[in-house]
Amino acid sequence: MSSITIPAREIPVIGDYDVVVAGGGPGGIPAAVAAARAGAKTLLLERYGYLGGMATAGLIVSILGTRASGTDEPMIGGIAAELCREMAQLGGAPDYDEAVKRGGIGFDPEVFKLVADTLVLGSGIDLRLHTWVADAIVEDGVISALVLESKSGREAVRGKVFVDATGDADIVWQAGASFTQGREFDGAMMAMGSMFRFGGADQERLPTGDAREEVMEKARAAVTAGEINAYNPGWGGKVYGRSVGEHMANSTRFAGDACNVEDLTRGEVQLRRDTWELIDWWRRNVPGLENAHLIQTPPHIGLRESRQMVGHDIVTGQDVVDARRRDDAVARCPYWIDIHCPLGRSKHGTHLCYKKCPNDPPCAMFEERYEDLPGNADDTHREGLFPRDGLWFDIPWGSLVSADIPNLITAGRCISCDHQAMAALRVMGTCMAIGEAAGEGAAMAADSTGADASAVDVAQLQERLRANGAPC
Ligand SMILES: Cc1cc2nc3c(=O)[nH]c(=O)nc-3n(C[C@H](O)[C@H](O)[C@H](O)COP(=O)(O)OP(=O)(O)OC[C@H]3O[C@@H](n4cnc5c(N)ncnc54)[C@H](O)[C@@H]3O)c2cc1C
Repeated sequence: MSSITIPAREIPVIGDYDVVVAGGGPGGIPAAVAAARAGAKTLLLERYGYLGGMATAGLIVSILGTRASGTDEPMIGGIAAELCREMAQLGGAPDYDEAVKRGGIGFDPEVFKLVADTLVLGSGIDLRLHTWVADAIVEDGVISALVLESKSGREAVRGKVFVDATGDADIVWQAGASFTQGREFDGAMMAMGSMFRFGGADQERLPTGDAREEVMEKARAAVTAGEINAYNPGWGGKVYGRSVGEHMANSTRFAGDACNVEDLTRGEVQLRRDTWELIDWWRRNVPGLENAHLIQTPPHIGLRESRQMVGHDIVTGQDVVDARRRDDAVARCPYWIDIHCPLGRSKHGTHLCYKKCPNDPPCAMFEERYEDLPGNADDTHREGLFPRDGLWFDIPWGSLVSADIPNLITAGRCISCDHQAMAALRVMGTCMAIGEAAGEGAAMAADSTGADASAVDVAQLQERLRANGAPC
């Protein structure tokens, strides 16, 4: 590939901050709020015109990871709970305590946007929407500034501590800090996939029980025959707070690299086409969906996995199934190793990449790297993919802090972990809990450790988190 050299030029600096958070998704929102409430002068940068990340731009409308299975014990609290309670107040989510017990919090994405704005601005954060973080400037081994691109042109912002909540570890990559991508074996990442909204479902006539299973059999056969391309040809369910007849479905999938713009382009185009074809198939084959019509595909293709920062600590798949506890825990995750097949396969009714994958013919991972696959064929406890009932694994502070750059912290799904642990801790409940810890810790580093996040007093950080109702 040929290249050009961009001439050096002076750009304006829009401000000096204690904490700069890049990315306003489930990881970034609580990070910014926690930092600002802890007294740090905080800036939140987001490339879109609204906050929420995958929760809004991806139409992912159910917060998972809220409690350990088999118990009512909440795994999230603090700012996540505050955001959910505010949504419930506005009719955009169910009662928080009840929903936590059920294990998931459905919500209306438009209400999420509104509540996130209020929470962020009410915490005294400087918010910049429509702002793409394009580069990180590293001087003397620390990040000194970020380069921003927007309709206002190219600008920079200086900071003491930077929180990378871009989902894709963009700042980690831009700063030249170490990261991993995908599974160790071949770098392949979990399949992308887009949720979509459709209307016109006749709720009363939708098949249930055996009748539903019959239609699903036919749908799965259509997938196997290549008539439709879906990992789950089911028609999803009602969106919280939305009208009867409107559904959100999580059906499509695309195998590719979430940090490669050509793959992203191909994925967007393919998933749109697959969505139209699936709805067309439903109209012809599912009683009650004869008049189904597409309302919306998401503004951004759904991304499950991309880059993971390498931190002082790495959370592993073994930690998940061992429900490992840590002295320096700053968040908890009760979720399981839910790896969507990186090859995008799902022909035999499962999307999971694990030891019991029924896909035929088997892939190279199955034939050559069987030992690397998660799950234990002999484990009677739900295929060895879950922490035991009532248990969770801890997220240690060291997995949020870059091993290379002392003033760089991650929040959300791009923390330091392997491919298997990532498949668990990526759920939004856990991303929010991690975010709050990241922001609180970032404020402490900016205030008292000379911006060295690895020197944060973790016992004090834990005390602060617990005082705000965040379990750790
Ligand atoms: C199809 C699908 C279904 C899922 N289902 C569920 C589910 O049911 N329940 C659940 O809890 N989780 C689910 N997830 C996972 C969950 O949505 C994500 O893992 C979670 O949103 C990650 O949060 P995050 O804040 O780390 O990243 P994101 O949600 O990706 O947020 C990152 C934010 O950073 C911004 N950003 C990125 N790069 C830049 C940049 N360079 N400059 C400025 N801004 C930038 C983005 O616009 C975005 O707002 C699902 C994911 C997918 C794809």
